[in-house]
Amino acid sequence: MAVKTPIYLDNAATTRCDPRVVEAMLPYFSEKFGNAGSRNHRFGWDAEDGIETAREQAAKLIGADAKEVIFTSGATESNNLAVKGAAEIYAKAPAGQQGRGHIITCTIEHKAVLDPCKRLQREGFDVTFLEPPADGVITAEMVRAAMRPDTILVSIMWANNEIGTINEVPEIGRLCHEKGVIFHTDGTQWVGKMPTDVERDCIDLLSWSGHKMYGPKGVGALYVRRRKPRVRLEALIDGGGQERGMRSGTQNVTGIVGFGKACELCMAEMEHDRERLLKLRRRLEDGLSGRMEVVQVNGHRDRRLPHISNISFGFVEGESLMMGIKEIACSSGSACTSASLEPSYVLKGLGVGDELAHSSLRLSFGRWTTEEEVDFAVESIAKAVEHLRKLSPLYDLYKEGVDLSTIEWQHH
Ligand SMILES: *Cc1c(COP(=O)(O)O)cnc(C)c1O
Repeated sequence: MAVKTPIYLDNAATTRCDPRVVEAMLPYFSEKFGNAGSRNHRFGWDAEDGIETAREQAAKLIGADAKEVIFTSGATESNNLAVKGAAEIYAKAPAGQQGRGHIITCTIEHKAVLDPCKRLQREGFDVTFLEPPADGVITAEMVRAAMRPDTILVSIMWANNEIGTINEVPEIGRLCHEKGVIFHTDGTQWVGKMPTDVERDCIDLLSWSGHKMYGPKGVGALYVRRRKPRVRLEALIDGGGQERGMRSGTQNVTGIVGFGKACELCMAEMEHDRERLLKLRRRLEDGLSGRMEVVQVNGHRDRRLPHISNISFGFVEGESLMMGIKEIACSSGSACTSASLEPSYVLKGLGVGDELAHSSLRLSFGRWTTEEEVDFAVESIAKAVEHLRKLSPLYDLYKEGVDLSTIEWQHH
């Protein structure tokens, strides 16, 4: 059967909004269009009802109480609110002074955690950026070894968005609770795809986003624990006091309703989706490694999300590879920073060399990805790699058994 191209294999970047989500949102554009803050009439009540239903759907997905869910504009805002909001409230010294407290995070977090941590560092906090081992998994032991008496916050993502590796979250959470330290996790790639329970998993603050789980863009949530311990946050946005004062501004009612519906669907379809995704990932990885040599799957073999596969192809040049697979929408191991192509800091953090990082692809699957599409991707990638390797003198040497590490390179 012919597949329709381009094929979308970039679900870790964003997902298609589920048509059932769109349907749930529609009435809130021009019928139930009220401001949830209007307490005196039907329009306001309808909007508020929509939001409160969504809050319950969101809470249910993560095993929380509805009161503990704060709606935001997405995971970037949730991460900023969690990290900066907690640091400011639990600071051990006032703004402008040094020694305000110690924060632990890691070097392969999303920029929406890394950059707030760097800002806090400039503002008098000490930050430890843990470096992952080659398999990419941050363990509770690593966090324990970095703990200090003045540690106030740990922010370690649940699962990595580039390589899909799963960190030791329940264990890190337990450690933090033992030490009386606030634990935040960026769950954007995890929540909705994998079972989540903030009680069992010992989480104080949890960020996630609508558009990574078949909901709309521009809406996300932050779980803020209300008991054992009651977590406080300094607001980033002041104003009308919406969202328990933690996030002022008229709520994005349509977005929030869609977010809630997306959470409900993920809850109902999680087991089914998860098995499908895992099968697709296996099909892709087995297909590629069956077709060619020198293929490396990045990140831990097993501790990985079912929907993300990050693969490096030796002896091909990254940009040419991307050019050769134009019918496949996916991400490369290079990040465009202004004019130059930088190798991904996540792959670099794992110790993947620059060359190999550039010739890496992140292929990520979603609710509508089919086996035919995966087979098509395997075929196109295999063809492109074969073609490029035919042009590679290094690949010839490799096949002749020359140990490339002993060659002396001429540098220009
Ligand atoms: C996509 C993503 C974000 C950013 O989410 P937005 O809702 O787009 O702001 C943060 N963290 C991770 C792990 C992500 O994958």
